[in-house]
Amino acid sequence: MSEPRLRYGLVGERLSHSHSPALHALLAPYPYALYEMPPDDLAAFIRAPGLGGLNVTIPYKQAVLPLCDALTPRARRIGSVNTLLYGPDGRITGDNTDYDGLRAMLERAGICVTGRKVVILGSGGTARTACAVCEDAGARAVITISRTGTNNYDNLGLHADAQVLINATPVGMHPHPDGMPVSLDAFPALLGVADAIYNPLRTRLVQVARARGIPAAGGLAMLVWQAAGAAERFTGAPIAAEKAEAALQSLRRSVENIVLIGMPGCGKTTVGRAVAALSGRAFVDTDEEVVRQVGKTIPRIFAEDGEAAFRAAEGRVVAEAAGRSGCVIATGGGTVLAAENRAALARNGRIVFLRRPLARLAVAGRPLSVDIEALAAARLPVYAAAADYAVDNDSAIGDAAERVWEGFLRCGYA
Ligand code: NAP
Repeated sequence: MSEPRLRYGLVGERLSHSHSPALHALLAPYPYALYEMPPDDLAAFIRAPGLGGLNVTIPYKQAVLPLCDALTPRARRIGSVNTLLYGPDGRITGDNTDYDGLRAMLERAGICVTGRKVVILGSGGTARTACAVCEDAGARAVITISRTGTNNYDNLGLHADAQVLINATPVGMHPHPDGMPVSLDAFPALLGVADAIYNPLRTRLVQVARARGIPAAGGLAMLVWQAAGAAERFTGAPIAAEKAEAALQSLRRSVENIVLIGMPGCGKTTVGRAVAALSGRAFVDTDEEVVRQVGKTIPRIFAEDGEAAFRAAEGRVVAEAAGRSGCVIATGGGTVLAAENRAALARNGRIVFLRRPLARLAVAGRPLSVDIEALAAARLPVYAAAADYAVDNDSAIGDAAERVWEGFLRCGYA
């Protein structure tokens, strides 16, 4: 990097949840800041002295086009700029590294588009980026589905032979993670699904595709590789694939939740608190949160309102907790019996089955723990199937907490 004192950063309208400073710090040594900018200040800001390079995000990727002195052929073709490069004379060149990100997302997940028919959902900047990537990779056909286009959501049947589906709409993104842009029933020939959304890590679209055995990728790798592409342009030096992969794993570790499931009384709350303490994470206990929100103990909710009322309150609490990032979440024993709770918690979390011998389970104050053998027969297979990994809580609490944390660190990004 020739000018270490130059400033780098991300410009957008609202940036409070941005991962970019952490990501760029993992990739290259320049100072990188967030610049929240109202639309009226954008043009003056990007001409401010001392800037070495900027990334551009919502809603300015198109707005900066006429503000650049030059565009790379790729940025001009896509009509969207996410990276501004400053020449020694202050001239600004607009580039697009979302292209690098989207291509890497597909490649890393083994989703091949060469010779295949690709359907892209949406008609914004990311959709146009996806079109360019797929055309360059030799896709047989690339179809864009737009709510207002010739190819739209009412005639998806025209493209039932699509082999790759790419979601470039915000449907399914936090805080509306139940959204699903299309039913996969419309595309019976799919060999791969990619979703540009990275919050949640695994959208409902990605989960449904995987449940059908279709390879599917979320957008976190796209985020990392677009940053790597920008870092390469800012510094003039290549970023090794291993470095980008390490940044992806690091980001995954910081945003993903750790979710403890298991029998009532197996130690989820105690071990969960210990994991939170040793990892410096926030802790959420869904049972405690239900008690706090309803204003009654769980035995009282069961006695006065019935189990259905408890499950409804639990579902609301789980949806809230599942939408958080980088937390430890202890669930109630029955939480993951509901498929919608399992799916919500897995969107942004690793599910850990905490095992404890039945004779050592705590039963006091637990309305359903009367016949523990019957409860275990019904529930243990559900816990085992829902879990990413299991940990025995059969010695000291600290040992179980360490095993939970070590298992989480070993999980790759998926
Ligand atoms: P955009 O320019 O606003 O385009 C989104 C497109 O989605 C719109 O053009 C619209 O197309 C469609 N759309 C919007 N709301 C919709 C709805 N309720 N139902 C169905 N379609 C809807 O946004 P973008 O910048 O392309 O970003 C699209 C997505 O990609 C976002 O979720 C964003 O977070 C994600 N993204 C991820 C990365 C990454 O690094 N992973 C980078 C960039 C963007 P029609 O009106 O034609 O239907």
